[in-house]
Amino acid sequence: MEATRQRRLIEAIATRMITHAEELTALDQAIGDGDHGLNMKRGFEAVLAKADEIAAKSPAEALKAIGTELVMKVGGASGPLYGSLFLGIGKGLTGPLDRAGLVAALQAGIGDVEKRGKSSVGQKTMLDVLVPVAARLAAGADLAAIRQTAAEAAAATVPMLAIRGRASFLKERSIGHMDPGARSSQLLIEAVCDVLEENV
Ligand code: ADP
Ligand code: MG
Repeated sequence: MEATRQRRLIEAIATRMITHAEELTALDQAIGDGDHGLNMKRGFEAVLAKADEIAAKSPAEALKAIGTELVMKVGGASGPLYGSLFLGIGKGLTGPLDRAGLVAALQAGIGDVEKRGKSSVGQKTMLDVLVPVAARLAAGADLAAIRQTAAEAAAATVPMLAIRGRASFLKERSIGHMDPGARSSQLLIEAVCDVLEENV
C-alpha cells in the first residue's frame, strides 16, 4: 500500500475517534466511568502525532506501531485491548493484502483481544462489533455491507447484558445502553471503509 493511502487511513481513524470523543464519553458515563472518549482521544492523538513515521512503515509494522502507541498512552481497559487488536492484526498480516490475508489478520487481532480480555462475543463489548464484521468480511461482503453490519452490531449491544468490563458491575442496569467500545469499534470500521471507498 502506498504511504499516502496508509497516512489517510491513520488520519481517518484517529480523527474519527477524536471528533467522537464526547459521544463515547457520554456512552461510558451511562454504564462505565465516563473515560472512554478521553482514552481513545489520548491514544489516537499520540498516533496522529507520529502519523508520518508510522505511514512510512510496511502495513504490518504500521499496525504494530499503532498498537504499541495505544498500549503506552491509553489507560483503562480499552488501551491494552485496542493495543492488542492492532498488534494482533499487524502480527497476523503475514500474507498478501487481499481479502483472505485481511480476514486472517483481523481474526488474529480479535483472538488477541479475546485472550487479553478473557472475553468473547455476546458479552457487550467491542468484540460484538469486531467479530460479526470479520465474519462478513470472510463471507465476501462489500464495503457497504460491512459498514451496515458494524452499525447493526453496535446497535445490537443496547439490549445486551454486560458480562465483561466495568459495565458488568451494573448487572441488569447495563441493559438499554450501547456499549462504548462497540461504538468506537464501529467508528473504526467506518473510517477504514471511508478511505477504501475513496477513488484515488
Ligand atoms: P475502562 O472500562 O477501563 O474505563 P474504557 O472506558 O476506555 O475503559 O473502555 C470500555 C470498553 O472496553 C467497553 O465498552 C468494552 O467495549 C471494552 N471492554 C472492557 N472490558 C473488556 C473485555 N474484558 N473484553 C473486551 N472488551 C472489553
Ligand atoms: Mg471507562
